[in-house]
This record gives sequence, C-alpha cells and structure tokens, in this order.
Amino acid sequence: MVDKNSRFYRHMRQVHMDFHMPEFPLEAIRNFDARAFVDHLERGRINMVALFSKCHFGNSFYDTKVGHKHAGLAADFLMEAATECRRRGIFTYAYYSLCTDVHAYEEHDNWRAIDRSGAPSGIHGPWARLCLNTPYKEELVLPQLTEIIQDYPVDALWLDIPLCFANDGCFCASCRRKYQVMHGREMDTLSPEDGVTWNYDACTRLIREVKHRIAILEKDILICSNRSGHLDAPRTFTEANDILCWESQPRHNYLSHSFTVRYVRTLSRPCQVMSVRFYQGWGDLTLKPAAQMTTEFAAMIGNGAAATSGDQVNVDGTLQPAVYDMFDTAFGFVAEREDLLRRAHSVKDVALLAPVPDGRRVAPQALAEPMLGAHKLLVESHVQHDILSALDIGAYADYRTILLPGPGDYAPGQVECLRGWVEAGGTLIGCGASLIRDGNMLLEDLFGIEYLEPSVFSVSHFRPRPEVRGETADLVLQCRAQTQKVIARGATVVADSYAPQGESTNLRAFRHAECAPPATQPAPYPFATVHTAGKGKAVYIAGAVFQAYWTYNHHWLRQFVAGLYDYVQPEPLYTVELPATVETNLMQLDDGDLLLNLVDYQVGHQASQTAIPAIETVYPFHQARCRVRMDTVQAVILEPQGDSLDFDASAGQVEFTIPTFTTMAMVRLRR
Ligand SMILES: [Zn+2]
Repeated sequence: MVDKNSRFYRHMRQVHMDFHMPEFPLEAIRNFDARAFVDHLERGRINMVALFSKCHFGNSFYDTKVGHKHAGLAADFLMEAATECRRRGIFTYAYYSLCTDVHAYEEHDNWRAIDRSGAPSGIHGPWARLCLNTPYKEELVLPQLTEIIQDYPVDALWLDIPLCFANDGCFCASCRRKYQVMHGREMDTLSPEDGVTWNYDACTRLIREVKHRIAILEKDILICSNRSGHLDAPRTFTEANDILCWESQPRHNYLSHSFTVRYVRTLSRPCQVMSVRFYQGWGDLTLKPAAQMTTEFAAMIGNGAAATSGDQVNVDGTLQPAVYDMFDTAFGFVAEREDLLRRAHSVKDVALLAPVPDGRRVAPQALAEPMLGAHKLLVESHVQHDILSALDIGAYADYRTILLPGPGDYAPGQVECLRGWVEAGGTLIGCGASLIRDGNMLLEDLFGIEYLEPSVFSVSHFRPRPEVRGETADLVLQCRAQTQKVIARGATVVADSYAPQGESTNLRAFRHAECAPPATQPAPYPFATVHTAGKGKAVYIAGAVFQAYWTYNHHWLRQFVAGLYDYVQPEPLYTVELPATVETNLMQLDDGDLLLNLVDYQVGHQASQTAIPAIETVYPFHQARCRVRMDTVQAVILEPQGDSLDFDASAGQVEFTIPTFTTMAMVRLRR
C-alpha cells in the first residue's frame, strides 16, 4: 500500500512544465525571470513542479560543463527556478530527456538507436533516438545527472523517454555486444515483446547507477521515470523508481484517469497520473476550461491519486497568466479536499486481473477493448474495483471478486493461485477466451464446464434467466462478438445461448452480415454459468461481452453483467441511485471512517473521434441517494463543507441523500 505521508502526497497539486525549445527563435528564453515564473506557480496553487534541465532537442537549461547549453539562455534556469521554488516550499523535479536528444544524435553516430532493419531513427522534429546501452550513458547522461545531483537544489529527477523504441528492441552495435555478453547468444531472434523489455532494462540499469551516485554524494533525491506506472511496464522498471508516472489524457471520453488510477493505486509507490491543460496534445498552447480541468482533477483525487497537469513555457521563457487563473480554480478545488484524501485508501472489492504471461510484463491485450469495456461497465454500474496485475498473487486475497475480461494469457502459476483463492471463498468471473491457452480452457473443473471450441458464428445471441436478468429487456439479446461453445458439467446455467439463423453470406443473408435473427430455440450450450467450488464460486460468460460493450455500447450487456454480478454478490459495499456518468469510489480513512466519493462527469456532445467532449460548465447535482454497508455509524458528513446529513441505519446499511454537490461529493461516514 502506498505511503500517503510521503513527500509526494504532501504535494498533491502538480504541474509538469514542458520546455522543449529549439534554438532558432530569436526571442528564445530572452525574458526568463525566476521570481515572476514562480509567482505564477504560487498563484496557481502549485506545490510540485518539473523544471527542465535538458529538452528533447538536447539543449540544457543549466550551466553544464559536459552538455550543450541553450544558446538563448543567459541565466541558469534550473538553479534560479529551483532555488526560488525551494524558498517557497514547492517540490521540484529536474526534468531530463533521455532517449531523444537531437544535439547528441547529430554529433555522435555511435550513440544512435538502431532498429531491427539496421536503420537509425533519423530526426523528426524533437525526436532523434539514442540508446542507453551506448557510451551516450557514460559520456553524457551520467555526467549531466551527476552535475545536477551534486549542485542543484532539486527534490527529484524526472527521466523522460525511457525507451529508445517503444515497439521493438534496439539493435545497435553496443546492444548487440552487451546482449551477447549478458545472454551468451545473438539478439537477432529477439521477439518485439522481449525487445521492448530489453529497452526497459537499459533504463532500469541507468536508474540503479544514478541511485548509487545519489548515495555516494549523500543527497536526498528521488527518481521518477515516465511510463514507470504504466500497466505494461516491467515490474523491475516500476520498482526501480521512487515516484511513478503514467500519462493519461482524455481522448473521446474521460475514463482514462479512472482506469489509470485504479491500477496505480494497487502499487506500492506514488504515481503521477498526468493530464495536460492542452486540448489535443503537449505544447499546443490551447487551454481547457476550469470546469473540465476540475473534473479531470476530481477523477484523479476522487479515485486516490494526486492531481497532475502539464503546462508549457512560452518561447521567451515566460508563462501565460490565464493558465494560472484556470489552475487557481482547479487546484483550489483540490486544495480544499486534499487533507482528507491524504488520509484515505481505496477499499478493495473487485479486481480486473491483467495477465502477465512471461512473469515480467502485463500482456498488451490488458490495455485493449475487453479490459477497457470491463472498466467502463463497472464504473457505470457503480461497482468498487481495481485493475490488478496478475503478478500480484499475494494481493488476490484482498478481493472478494476477480474478473478476467479476456482474452487472457495468464501464466500457470497465476491460474493455480486463482484456483486456491476460489476454493477459499472468492468469486471468479471468466469471460470468453480469458482462460483459453493453447486450445484448452484452464480451470474447467472449477467452472463446472467442458470447453468445446469457438463458435463459428460472428454474432450470437443470449437470453438471461430471470434470476440474473437485471434491467435487461425480456427478449433474446445480441452479443456482437466471439462466443465460445461449452457444455455445462455441474455448473448451473443462468443464461442460454441462441445461435443465429445461419452465418450471413452474399447469397444467403437476412440483411447485413451481423443481423441474422436468432434461432427460436436455445442452443444446448450455455451463455453463462455459475458453479460452486469449495467455499467460492466460478462464473463463466461465454461471449466476449466486455469487448462488445467497448465497441458498441450495447446497454443490455452492462445490464446483464450488473444483474449477474448482483446475483453472485448479493452484499455489495454500496448501492447508489445515480446515472452512469457519476463515478463512485469508497475509501477508508486512517481512523476507520469510510469516505464515499462521487465524481460527476457532465460531458457535452461527442463530435469526431479527435475531439474531446466539452465540459464547459458544471451544474449542481441534486438528490443523490446512497446506501453503504457499515455496521455502526455515528454521523454522515458532507466534506469538505462539514454539513451533517440525515441518515437511516439498519441491517448493516446506512442510507442517506446528498442534497446537492458540484463536480465531486465526499461523504464521510463516521464510525
Ligand atoms: Zn542500442
């Protein structure tokens, strides 16, 4: 569990100050004034900031003896800004661009990252890839980081672009030689997946060396690398860092912050879940409205993280005042709530389990549609959940329910752990191909089913039986995704499958390919089953409902899964009468009180896929009815206002209504 008394959590209003600056603009950095610069940060209520020491172009922003200082910079930006921040209690990172450096790329062809075909990356704007396995690390990176560690009043280093290639390994001469020495074979046969891990390992070794130098110099400096909090980063890389980062920016919806926080809060280190104040991407100098940034911050802090946004320094070295007016509002919202949130940890109930097939990195499919669909579905159904790496076997016992959204590739050790966990009382929900490995379904006996094969039909149908029907309409429902054929061998069928009236072809079709009507009678293959195993339950859903839900938003899929979940878990931690666009998260305070957070996403109409739905004004939400499972309660208090709410407590439930809140409600249930 992450330490919320750490230096990180004492600074929950964080800005990542981008400052990638080529040398061609004549006015570059002419007007930098450290005091005015930090005045803006203070006015925007920021108490943690990344300050640049070297940008993607390879320009240093401090008086370096080994690197190239930006030609337009007279002052020592890093020294002046960091000194001024320290004077005012603002935590600082020295930002350092690792695997892209245009200046170094141009001057040193033996430092360049080389792809599998033997080609260097080339220069594309600020992107020119360098490899940490070359002398670049020894001749520039380590000497520069040592200069900063030794002489600069910063609290941490922030290492960006930890990978030279994010999709494959580096195959430069240094990598080839190092790989041969470390593994005793040539690296040509390296898979792309293992190539990425090879690149991560180069950065992990760099961090270990930097930590050693920090220790030698007897400094108290932490290390944070970009991507270190990412779901598919190797755990060795994550754990080499003191502070983690996962960049999270809304695209066509606002679910990314929730997804990211629900994973990183299961880790033992604090993590920046980082948005930006820009609409379409870093440095575009657009400005989101305060209502939108406040909603994003609410999604971060309401789920248990700090609030983090990116900004960008003007070409002349100044900041834009209007940005800090906006931050004053959005971070002001955080400031009113942070003291209480620092004392709280999210309650564990349901885990979405991300597979780690090789024992090192979460499989890429854990970031694809089934996991995204399952997360969205549970958020909208107000189910308390985390996203957990299957590596964290010891944490399974903290959860009552584990959901495998599929398609999975769980390592045998993880699967056997799930068996023991179910037999001890857990509820396991498998979906589609989540447990199919090499053509066989694992844990068949636990689920009480026999696996046959994937359905030949591209679309299938199902009908929930009354006990799991939930809010679904009383008709045969469509699952526009792959379904598996299984036979019940001891499991209770709770939903029936209906094959389509044939697979559509050009010559034999009802309408579109996906629209063949269902057969009139159910097939002898269940769509969903429940099986008791030991003290627990194993639930199987044969259709890839989470994939289909993310792809099509078919509401009956959410209603069906919610109905099934209510059936197998009749004692939820809480129930709320709220729309799907209000997110819930239950936390426990250090004194045992509970804290129920509600985050209201008042999202405007969606335009194209490249447009972020607007949140320009947020109107108060009225009459939010909530029930929380709690044995004894002394008071129900709306925070941070401190207003006492009326409540009814009976049969282990506390029931209350929040009369009104805007963007986020925090309700404290005092024990
Ligand atoms: Zn290399």
